[in-house]
Order: sequence, then structure tokens, then C-alpha cells
Amino acid sequence: MNAADDPAAERADCLVVGAGPAGLTAALYLRRFALRTLLVDAGRPRAALIPRTRNQPAFPGGISGRSLLKRMRRQVSLHGVEVADGTVLSAEREADGFVARFRPAGAEPVLLRSRTLLLATGIRDHRPAALPDPLHDRALRLGHVRYCPICDGFEARDRRIAVLGQGAHGMREAIFLRSYSADVFLIPPDGPLELDAAGRARLRDAGVTVLDQPVRRFALRPNGMELLVGDQPLRFDSVYPAMGARIHSDLAVALGAVDEAVCVPVDDHGRTRVPGLYAAGDVTRGLDQIATATALAAAAATAIRNDLADRTPLRRPRSLLRTRDDSPGTEPLPV
Ligand SMILES: Cc1cc2nc3c(=O)[nH]c(=O)nc-3n(C[C@H](O)[C@H](O)[C@H](O)COP(=O)(O)OP(=O)(O)OC[C@H]3O[C@@H](n4cnc5c(N)ncnc54)[C@H](O)[C@@H]3O)c2cc1C
Repeated sequence: MNAADDPAAERADCLVVGAGPAGLTAALYLRRFALRTLLVDAGRPRAALIPRTRNQPAFPGGISGRSLLKRMRRQVSLHGVEVADGTVLSAEREADGFVARFRPAGAEPVLLRSRTLLLATGIRDHRPAALPDPLHDRALRLGHVRYCPICDGFEARDRRIAVLGQGAHGMREAIFLRSYSADVFLIPPDGPLELDAAGRARLRDAGVTVLDQPVRRFALRPNGMELLVGDQPLRFDSVYPAMGARIHSDLAVALGAVDEAVCVPVDDHGRTRVPGLYAAGDVTRGLDQIATATALAAAAATAIRNDLADRTPLRRPRSLLRTRDDSPGTEPLPV
């Protein structure tokens, strides 16, 4: 990686921050556009939490998030891009690009310079406070805790489902899941439900049961999760926390692409309102899916290529065309 704290050092064409599905896809496209690409990652992809995705095209038996990321990393690595582990602490605009302060894992921060910057930094779901880490992760692996009804509501068909959520957001998620099961309960984790009469009527019409008491304890049982709701122990096959997420948009806020820590607004090509700054994946507003993350990343990478070419025409030197000795070349890559 061209880590450089020397201002005279060569700039990368693009620094991609985040190596989840979005960042890895963008890096693949950028490298295949023969652009100098840096890819860094803080090591907490949301995708790694997926026990087994079954809505990812081309994997009929499903694939775990970790295996998918491993394959994607191998694909970019075959193109000569390695993920540098570490965190971008801050970034600033400077003439003709950006300078980012990057702390590699276990080392002192360095400065990375790039002509463009792509944020693929994702989000992190809020978790119920009463569901501590080892128990949470075990329940997640077993499918007793789930975060993405679009992804895995199908697997929860005809199961007993609890949605932990407040207000209109909780209501929408419970009604969405009602199309998969007749046994859907909406439980505001800190109770009672803050919802107007019209919202409550919608829940009633949908056949969603509202439990207006806080969840005091979670326990893993052989046949699901037991929630102590008020004084009542209740068993569920799957619990969907619908408690929002922390959006990793700090860098975008600092660079002026968005005013507060919400999803980063982008156009159809991943361009933010800051020239040269792009974003893709969950950090932008969308479905929060692998397919949409990779689609926007592909569009953003192509926009980056075209925007750079508008600034300075991209011309490959004739000698390189003749020798074909760079990586990746015109030969088929091993699969
Ligand atoms: C339990 C669960 C199950 C899911 N199941 C499915 C499913 O079946 N199908 C589906 O399509 N989707 C599923 N999803 C959603 C899917 O995981 C996300 O849509 C996808 O991971 C988004 O990819 P991303 O690249 O935008 O973000 P992420 O995968 O979250 O990657 C972002 C990366 O950026 C890094 N990063 C953040 N800030 C910095 C920084 N400052 N410096 C360096 N690196 C940084 C993070 O550490 C992280 O590694 C599921 C999600 C969860 C939680």
C-alpha cells in the first residue's frame, strides 16, 4: 500500500474506506479500471454477522457473511489490491484531492493521499441493552436473533416472532413480518409503546399483538429465546431488534457531505455533494442489503473513473500494452 506521510508522495486515484461488500466491490471495479486503489478496513463489517445469507444471488445453498467476504477479498487480492487493516481517523480536503489520517492496526498513524475518496463505512445496529454480547452472538448464530426482515423473514415463516421496537418504526417492521407469520408481537424494549391511536389501529388490523411492558431479561432456551416481558416469561423462535443503527458517517460529516450523523445523501452514481467524495453501501440511504451495496459501489467506482478521466484523460502507455506484464493483465485470472 502507498502509505505516505510525505506530501510529495504519489497520490492514489482513490482511497476506499471500508472493506465490506460495498468497499470490496468498489476496489475491484477501480482496480479493473487500472486505477491506483487503496483499500482500508477497521475490521467490523456488518456482513460478517450474517450466519447464512440465502438471498444472495448465485449461492443456492446460501453462504455465510464471513465466507462471502473471504471470497471477495481473494478476488480483489488477485487483482493486486490488499486490504490494509486499520482505521481512518479523519480526512480533509486539499488541493486536487484528500488527505486521510490512517491508523494501521498496531502502528502509528500515517497520512494517505488520494485524488478521490469513497466511503463504504457501513452502519452498526443498536442492540437491546439487556442482551449482552456472548448471549447475543450465540442467539444470532442460531437465528433466534435477527436484524434484517428483508433478508431472512422468509426463514422465520410461521414462527413465533417478537419485534423489539418503538413507535412507527417498530410498527412498520412488525406489520412487514406479519406477512410471514400469524404470531407477531411488538414489544417496545423499554415500554410502553409510543404510538398514536391510528398506528395502534393499524397494528390491531394487521393482527400484531402489542405487549406494552419492558423486556427485563433474555435467556437462550433449546427451542428459542425466552423474554421476561414485565413479569411474564414468553418464548419466541426469532427476535428482531428494530432499534435503529449508528451510521458511520463521521468522515462524511467532517468533510461537509452531510450535516449530521445520518445516511449520506448521494446521487444515483454515489456522488456526495462534495466534489471527489463518494459513498456506497449501508452508509447511504437504501435497502441495507448486499445486493444494493454492491450495485451502488459498482456505479460509484464507474463514476469515479469517469470523473477522474474528465479531469485528466486516462491514457495507457503503449509500452505497457505491448509487454502485458502488469497485474491484472489481459490473461484470465485463476478462479
Ligand atoms: C445479522 C445480519 C444479517 C444480514 N443478512 C443479510 C442477508 O441475508 N442478505 C443481505 O443482502 N444483507 C444482509 N444483511 C445486511 C448486510 O450485512 C449489509 O447490507 C452489508 O454488510 C452492507 O455492506 P457495507 O459494505 O455497506 O458495510 P459493512 O459490511 O458494514 O462494511 C463496512 C466496513 O467499513 C469499516 N469502517 C467503518 N468506518 C471505518 C473507518 N473510519 N476506517 C476504516 N474502516 C471503517 C467497518 O469496520 C466495516 O468493516 C444482514 C445484516 C445483519 C446485521
